[in-house]
Amino acid sequence: NKQVVLRDYVSGFPKESDMNIVEGTTILKLPQGSNDVLLKNLYLSCDPYMRMLMTKVEGLDVFGTYTPGSPLTGYGVSKVLESGHPDYKKGDLVWGSTKWEEFSLVSPTQILFKIEHTDVPLSYYTGILGMPGMTAYAGFFEVGSPKKGENVFVSAASGAVGQLVGQFAKLTDCYVVGSAGSKEKVDLLKNKLGFDEAFNYKEESDLNATLKRYFPEGIDIYFENVGGKTLDAVLPNMRVLGRIPVCGMVSQYNLTQPEGVTNLANLIFKRIRMQGFIVGEFYHLYPKFLEFVLPHIRERKVVYVEDIAEGLENGPAALVGLYSGRNVGKQVVVVARD
Ligand code: NDP
Repeated sequence: NKQVVLRDYVSGFPKESDMNIVEGTTILKLPQGSNDVLLKNLYLSCDPYMRMLMTKVEGLDVFGTYTPGSPLTGYGVSKVLESGHPDYKKGDLVWGSTKWEEFSLVSPTQILFKIEHTDVPLSYYTGILGMPGMTAYAGFFEVGSPKKGENVFVSAASGAVGQLVGQFAKLTDCYVVGSAGSKEKVDLLKNKLGFDEAFNYKEESDLNATLKRYFPEGIDIYFENVGGKTLDAVLPNMRVLGRIPVCGMVSQYNLTQPEGVTNLANLIFKRIRMQGFIVGEFYHLYPKFLEFVLPHIRERKVVYVEDIAEGLENGPAALVGLYSGRNVGKQVVVVARD
């Protein structure tokens, strides 16, 4: 049972060498009387929050932390090999909590959804049809409260979550601009993902001026994925009664000293609602989300870009690549295809 284990707690940017590939105990049978499920892992999801679990941070460990020497935990798509739980049976496909290894014993009391629709790529359940999809849906529609015609700005716009926020904004008849870290990503946003405009934030020396250019009348919704300098430049460009769903702050996760944000007073003058959220609070909406998104996928009205790494041994490189923007679209690791 090949596993990816954390070598030790990480400080600063994570490196491939912070993880080891080891041969763990092979689990072939469910222990007697167990309520767990034995899974064969097919696709693993690389998610930015995983960095936060690699360090013990006082007050920020809402998700717990990884244990050095043990496999990473995360989201994945898996096949049930054996089940001690009445809701699951051998052969079922599931997505949700699993571990970075070939075979895992998982308790169904954790997040675990049965996959009912297999006419779409299975890997989509790590992305558009899984946690990032729900994040974009809940963050944009529930937290962002969008209205037709509003101006929307999305950072990390070509990523797992951002590419969907932009497309959901277009379905709502909003004007949407995305920022991303390379020309390739900017082209993708404009030519494939339907954003009205996009720019490479690494090439803009004055982000405030850039935003004024794209939003002469201001931003109604800023979907926050990165934090730091981007947030600071957005605040003075927000409109009165604007909303900022705070999904993530990936630019801050590896800093020992987070960057200060100086323009927060705009929240007062413009009565802006800035609200953090965690996708886990919204999973009761998953059936409604599927009803909304599946027809759009089937009719190609919503598309999804994935970046596929082959093999568990390439998982550490794929994961750390998130923090340098190496991934183009949703970063997935293939462990097995069936
Ligand atoms: P992505 O697929 O977007 O991958 C991360 C991307 O972040 C990189 O590709 C890179 O894109 C960008 N990035 C990395 N470092 C920086 C930096 N220093 N400054 C600016 N951008 C950077 O990830 P996801 O779509 O999965 O996640 C997006 C955000 O949503 C993250 O902040 C994540 O933590 C958050 N999230 C929150 C959830 C919640 O429940 N609240 C659930 C899921 C995700 P580029 O090349 O464009 O810089």
